[in-house]
Amino acid sequence: MTKKIMLDPGHGGHDPGAVANNLKEKDLVLKIAKKTKAILEKVYGATVKLTRSTDVYIDLSQRARLANNWGADYFASIHINGGGGTGFETFRFDKLSAASSTGKQQKIVHDSIYKKIKEKAGDRGTKSKNLAVLRETKMPAILTENLFIDREKDAALLKQESFLDALAAGHADGIASAVGLKKVSSISKKTTAQPKSTLNKKYMLPTGIYKVKTPLMRGDAVKQIQDALAALYFYPDKGAKNNGIDSYYGPKTANAVRRFQLMHGLIADGIYGPKTKANLEALLK
Ligand SMILES: [Zn+2]
Repeated sequence: MTKKIMLDPGHGGHDPGAVANNLKEKDLVLKIAKKTKAILEKVYGATVKLTRSTDVYIDLSQRARLANNWGADYFASIHINGGGGTGFETFRFDKLSAASSTGKQQKIVHDSIYKKIKEKAGDRGTKSKNLAVLRETKMPAILTENLFIDREKDAALLKQESFLDALAAGHADGIASAVGLKKVSSISKKTTAQPKSTLNKKYMLPTGIYKVKTPLMRGDAVKQIQDALAALYFYPDKGAKNNGIDSYYGPKTANAVRRFQLMHGLIADGIYGPKTKANLEALLK
């Protein structure tokens, strides 16, 4: 059973959140949320949505409403602190005790994130507060405050892509564990848990440009692209016959390519070319 996870990158648009040391909270939390989404989808097979995936402003009640209307199983709001402290902390709604199920899930997510950064940052603990996104969401919810943007030492960490990766891995592992999701694949090459057939399966990828044309491009090369995307859970048509893997480069395949490109910081044009090929290869090798 998959789970529906709503990730909520705080602030956005005209509301930058905390700003200091050439950093804006709204940019950092969007990055962390996108990285977390990718891991939850790829490694845990979760269904993940973001309340915002671009630099736009959404009010707090709308964020909660998006999660409620979707029927999310878990809600995580991601923030960076400001105001002269240092370290990492998380919040649950203050009407819920640490012993409540939300409190227990908070502890799991909190510990999972902190485990990834404990050599570098302090732990301010699991806290509770009457915050709108925690109060108005109907499902278990957490809000994470990932270091202080106005503390030079914290800001230096937040400028490192590898530190944001660690935060994202902590969020993904913790949320997965809190909602009971197990790994469906591993992006780690060290793994031995996967059956040999999967590990040794070689994904061949064509060189050249593939896109939607009339008549549609078709053949083994297109199928190779579709197989590689499907291996990373970007199905041309999930749930359809063979998940839409049909050797035709149609709009659905272009859409799968576009989703993959979006997730990996490429120009999301739905056209398979050298950059998309390189990114697919790197993930599948
Ligand atoms: Zn914030």
